[in-house]
Amino acid sequence: MYCNYCGKSIQDDANVCAYCGTRVGGSIARKRLVRPREGRKVAGVCLGMAEYFDLDVTLVRVVWLIMAFMTGVGFLGYVIAWIVMPEEPYMLAAQATTGQQVTNP
Ligand SMILES: [Zn+2]
Repeated sequence: MYCNYCGKSIQDDANVCAYCGTRVGGSIARKRLVRPREGRKVAGVCLGMAEYFDLDVTLVRVVWLIMAFMTGVGFLGYVIAWIVMPEEPYMLAAQATTGQQVTNP
């Protein structure tokens, strides 16, 4: 397939263009505020937000922690987000890992 951004030919199952770094492929399906099953630290809230807003997950965690300690709202917000944010469907989790492992047909 081809990158929508730079037009170069890339791997069919690539998630990120190797030339310009633009997200391709599963990015549209993943544009939902969910808690990913892979790579989460606690409940996946920060990771889900980072993916949704296309931010660095470390940055999201740092900002969230600062908010939590400065205002106390962060802790409550995290619990609320934990409850309201749906878990990533298994279908999407499988799609996201196709780059690392061979999936069975
Ligand atoms: Zn590209």
